[in-house]
Amino acid sequence: MADFDQDLQQRLAAFREQGLYRTLRRVDSTQGTRIQIGGRTLVNFSSNDYLGLTNHPALREAAIRAVEKYGAGSGAARLICGSLTPHHDLEDILAAFKGTEAALTFSSGYATAIGTITSLVGKDDLIIVDKLAHACIVDAARLSGAKLRVFAHNDLDDLEHILKWANSASRPASPSGRILIVTESVFSMDGDHAPLRELADLKEKHGAWLMVDEAHATGLYGANRRGLAEELGVAGRIEIQMGTLGKALGASGGHICGSQKLIELLINRARSFIFSTAPVPAAAAAAAAGVRLIQSNEGEQLRHALWDRVASFIGQPSPFPSAILPVIVGDEMKAVELAAGLRERGFFVPAVRFPTVARGAARLRVTVTAAHATEDINAFKAALDATRNTQHAGGQVRTPENP
Ligand SMILES: *Cc1c(COP(=O)(O)O)cnc(C)c1O
Repeated sequence: MADFDQDLQQRLAAFREQGLYRTLRRVDSTQGTRIQIGGRTLVNFSSNDYLGLTNHPALREAAIRAVEKYGAGSGAARLICGSLTPHHDLEDILAAFKGTEAALTFSSGYATAIGTITSLVGKDDLIIVDKLAHACIVDAARLSGAKLRVFAHNDLDDLEHILKWANSASRPASPSGRILIVTESVFSMDGDHAPLRELADLKEKHGAWLMVDEAHATGLYGANRRGLAEELGVAGRIEIQMGTLGKALGASGGHICGSQKLIELLINRARSFIFSTAPVPAAAAAAAAGVRLIQSNEGEQLRHALWDRVASFIGQPSPFPSAILPVIVGDEMKAVELAAGLRERGFFVPAVRFPTVARGAARLRVTVTAAHATEDINAFKAALDATRNTQHAGGQVRTPENP
């Protein structure tokens, strides 16, 4: 026992030395633009609840009603003890929202990627992933046993180079294997957008499949707020549309939207679906209420409010808006100090470090939501400037216009 703790102690000390040590901060309030930490109220610029739905009465009431009708737990995995109505309702609503034949939900976005990618490709296949794709995609790709290739971030030439290699005689192992390209639509740590039209062109030209993770885009883009694929008019060309229910949708869980055959395959193969207890009914009901709300006029108004706040933050309206506005610092320790300085001034924003981003690319990951007031944004910007000046921290606000 002593050896065990000593080993862990050494590893923890190494994290501390590198500025990579992490702790949980206990929040004694609900999640929202104001959170209570250590007896203080801080203005929150860290949440992915982009439309302010986590505390919306429609979601809260849907969750409460589901508990009253279906209870607190789910009993078992859905293939074992039967599959509860709230999960089917949610999947029907998601498929209708995204305009696909079918949908399947998972307990989280992470579990969605793991179950889906490992169902679709295996050891004779090739998976090609954007350099900045989320950890769950990378982990799933590794777990699948498929050959993993990474293309430079949003670099179509690099991707095409790999695709040509994949279809050439020089790919020794399995020339007839499947090829799956996976990317995010709006990148989680940078807020920039993937060139989905060009990616769809390339995958069609080279006989590959395309999976797009819309975690940070669902609810925010497109005429029906389905995501960036809708905005760019390519949703119908993407074989696998992934998303989470825990960000703009305000609840918890993950989902895949696509063909009936895709969903059937996942029900039969996705181990994170098959071997895991179904999400609680309240989570499914809250997510369904979130999807309904996003489709309503109120959803459209909330999206407008969000882009309005983003424009206040960057000082101008943006043709490619994103709610994720990283302040790039570089050095891990300096990013942590900058976040601490901002907490002293009453603002909560996370310092994101390796391994979430590359070493030396530490940043404050500022997220703006529809629930912020314009005054919150102005006060935060003033506090950021003041903290940077006293700490000589530097740090550039990065936006799609100012990459
Ligand atoms: C948050 C996130 C996930 C994971 O979703 P969870 O529901 O939080 O597990 C997957 N992909 C991306 C791009 C994300 O940002």
